[in-house]
Amino acid sequence: MSSKTPNPFARIPAVDKVLHALTQREDIAPLPLALITREVRGAVESLREEVKNGRTDVPEFEEFVESSAKALDSLYRSRIHPVINGTGVCIHTNLGRSPLSVKAVEGITGVGQYYNNLELDLDSGERGKRGGFLEKCLATLIGAEAATITNNCAAALILMLKHLANGEKNEAIISRGELVEIGGGFRVPEIMEASGTRLVEVGATNKTSLEDYEKAITPKTGMLLKVHRSNFWMDGFTHEPTTEELVALGNAHGIPVVEDLGSGAMVMTDSLAPIPHEPTASEVLNRGVDLVCVSGDKLLGGPQAGIIAGRADLVAGIKKEPFFRALRCDKLILTAMQETIVEYLGAGEKPELPLLRMLSASVEDDLMPRAKAIVDSLKEIEGLEVGTVETIARCGGGTMPKAEIPSLALDFHPTSMSLPKLSKLLREQPLPVMGYIAEDRFRVDLRTVFPEQDGKVVENFLAIFRKV
Ligand SMILES: *Cc1c(COP(=O)(O)O)cnc(C)c1O
Repeated sequence: MSSKTPNPFARIPAVDKVLHALTQREDIAPLPLALITREVRGAVESLREEVKNGRTDVPEFEEFVESSAKALDSLYRSRIHPVINGTGVCIHTNLGRSPLSVKAVEGITGVGQYYNNLELDLDSGERGKRGGFLEKCLATLIGAEAATITNNCAAALILMLKHLANGEKNEAIISRGELVEIGGGFRVPEIMEASGTRLVEVGATNKTSLEDYEKAITPKTGMLLKVHRSNFWMDGFTHEPTTEELVALGNAHGIPVVEDLGSGAMVMTDSLAPIPHEPTASEVLNRGVDLVCVSGDKLLGGPQAGIIAGRADLVAGIKKEPFFRALRCDKLILTAMQETIVEYLGAGEKPELPLLRMLSASVEDDLMPRAKAIVDSLKEIEGLEVGTVETIARCGGGTMPKAEIPSLALDFHPTSMSLPKLSKLLREQPLPVMGYIAEDRFRVDLRTVFPEQDGKVVENFLAIFRKV
């Protein structure tokens, strides 16, 4: 509905009237009034701008209130809150990468809610080392001389470059086959340049030899850098020197060799699921590199962080870099990582971490019984056919792109609405369900749904189909 009066300006609703009408509604999104006011003011202002620019079909008052209420709902849904991941992508970047373990969350709760010994030495009562315990745990787990932690793996790489490839020796040699973009705009060459490092590219995209590296070495070379390709692979006519060969070359010239490993596997991935082996930080250090860095919230299954491990003198030097202060982790992340690494140290190959549990869940024994129970609770619904289908789940998060994990999904065929409509309604629930559309069905892969969320999946479908 719209109205074309001679003076459209007179029809622009007053902010306080809209606010009053909105706050009378039962279903108004539970947002702070200040935020609601700002949004409404903004909407009225845009309408006024449009009218100034010639718009004549000014909406009726009720219509304006209705659309404001919708906009507020959508704003409310945009706050960070839990989502059920039915995509089958275990480390889903849009869904917050790795979920934390209960112990990590309990750690955060205690440390966040109360004071703590973040920088206090309880023995002496003097100022203590921030994250000292965690650094020891990390070094033990990885089998490194020393380790430390920063904001994320991108920050870890920047710090290593700042420390080793700066000033007199500001050149870092890297293969053209490894100038990758990891996602979220993390481009290795751009990070390197931004760190003040001169990037020395060698080889060709598909082939780089040891001599390519050797020929590029000058008195200004600060490091040889190897970057794990993470989210893509090369096949066919390819070659690259092994890490051991690079290490031998670096040693011969007294140049540190650094590997950005990214994914952060700490256990044998091939023992978790029928997927390839992903190199661990420990394996890479054993090949002789001076430093390695990994992400905390990919295959490691912890909070967002970057871990640097390797030679004690280099780690100590990195911690003295002015940028280290700017890129350090806060107490909550340190605590979550501490609990995660302690879990690894205590549990050997079977740490109790949600990500590892998801990767290793069995289709037959774990997923199938859950699927059957859900299908049973939903099969009577009018307008919805539901079954199960074998699927392929993924590691995700730019790790192990080739890994295909056999999985099982709920397979929905709504007869009373379109698939995109169902998908949208599921996203609009208080606890949204993210699935995907394939082969003319809406699917919810159970590998990435926590078993305790199965009931919520059912509730969401009941809520949607009861209404239609
Ligand atoms: C993911 C990844 C990064 C970036 O890690 P963040 O923790 O997201 O900053 C860097 N390098 C490699 C090789 C990666 O796979």
